[in-house]
Amino acid sequence: MTSSALPHPDPAALARDPRALADLLLAISNEAAARPADVRVVHAPGRVNLIGEHTDYNLGFVLPVAIDLGIAIALVPTADRRVELTLAATGETLGFNLDDLGPKRGAWIDYVAATAWALAERGLQTQGFRGVLASDLPQGSGLSSSAALELCSSLALSGGELPATDRMTLAQTAQRAENGYVGVNCGLMDQFASSLGRPGHALLLDCRSLEHRAIPMADPDLALVACHSGSPRKLETSAYNERRSQCEAAAAAILGGEPGEASLRDVTAAMLEEARPRLDPVVAARAEHIVHENGRVLAAVAAFEAGDLAEVGRLFGASHASMRDLFEISSPELDALVEIASGVDGVIGARLTGAGFGGCTINLVRRSAVPALREAVMRDYPARTGLAPRVLEVAASAGARRVL
Ligand code: ADP
Ligand code: MG
Repeated sequence: MTSSALPHPDPAALARDPRALADLLLAISNEAAARPADVRVVHAPGRVNLIGEHTDYNLGFVLPVAIDLGIAIALVPTADRRVELTLAATGETLGFNLDDLGPKRGAWIDYVAATAWALAERGLQTQGFRGVLASDLPQGSGLSSSAALELCSSLALSGGELPATDRMTLAQTAQRAENGYVGVNCGLMDQFASSLGRPGHALLLDCRSLEHRAIPMADPDLALVACHSGSPRKLETSAYNERRSQCEAAAAAILGGEPGEASLRDVTAAMLEEARPRLDPVVAARAEHIVHENGRVLAAVAAFEAGDLAEVGRLFGASHASMRDLFEISSPELDALVEIASGVDGVIGARLTGAGFGGCTINLVRRSAVPALREAVMRDYPARTGLAPRVLEVAASAGARRVL
């Protein structure tokens, strides 16, 4: 696929305009041009997590929100078992054969191949396609572009429809793709949010039982604002894996068994204090974050449901402090964003969101205070860090779906 239509000057706008994305595919793909009635567009959202960080792989609680930024693919299904996907942003086309995925490429197409691999492993049908991808979701920024790419791919690989399974199984299949093929040992939260997102709601997930509940975020006076630190994530994968093994070591030391068998989900604050003298101090600090963070998620849900926003704000603050001081996944840049936001009247709560080590903060803000927050961040953050921030107002949105 080659065309003067690529690279596209405004891929973010294309991600929000299914008709325009379909037209781009018609312009660049002979297969699509030959069968215009078979062109479909699928979309999957990114997410912010309101509270509950690194609790998912400890089988605890998380409270993500699928957002109105995401990834869209226009595609025409084909019968040739071949996938070819073009990035609207760069014009780059990569592909693979569904019956012989070949080695990992070390590139973005690995996420698509991973999804094909995981769908097949689950016994779900896959189909080839020609497609073009557009995104308005920042990559590698803690807003879960990888999960959005997996969920979007799972529909593209299924002829543009939801695969023939339920949305939780679909989320687990996408997580399996990232764990088992891409090689990132993530928990279920990101794929869960991108699959099961609901407009106007946050999603409480119990990562052990997989029970989940939609929490209304309907107050028209409230806004969600993600602030992007603009800082590259350093040592993220190795630090993430180190946190995971420290959590497993803590659970094994407190509950017995081999690392990986027991989970911090079963450790109470009292059990942690009783065991603390036997624990490595760093391991104990990691466990302290997880044990109390689980409590904060449930407390935040109760506070949202009671309309007690002051308590939600306090819990956001306590969560950020715990990530900074105990779990040590914050950065000077993320701390600066939280401090700047906390000084703005009408900001209810601010904390880092996602795996940490860079990326974004999430801010719960009175709608009338969004301009003041934007102004404070744009003025004070570059002065403090030398970096350019991005302020993104986001809204709770639907999970992966066909949009055309
Ligand atoms: P996050 O999920 O927080 O955004 P990850 O490192 O998990 O960060 O995933 C980012 C990766 O996902 C990118 O390196 C790229 O391979 C892939 N990706 C995400 N969005 C896009 C996109 N719009 N175009 C191509 N690849 C993308
Ligand atoms: Mg990711």
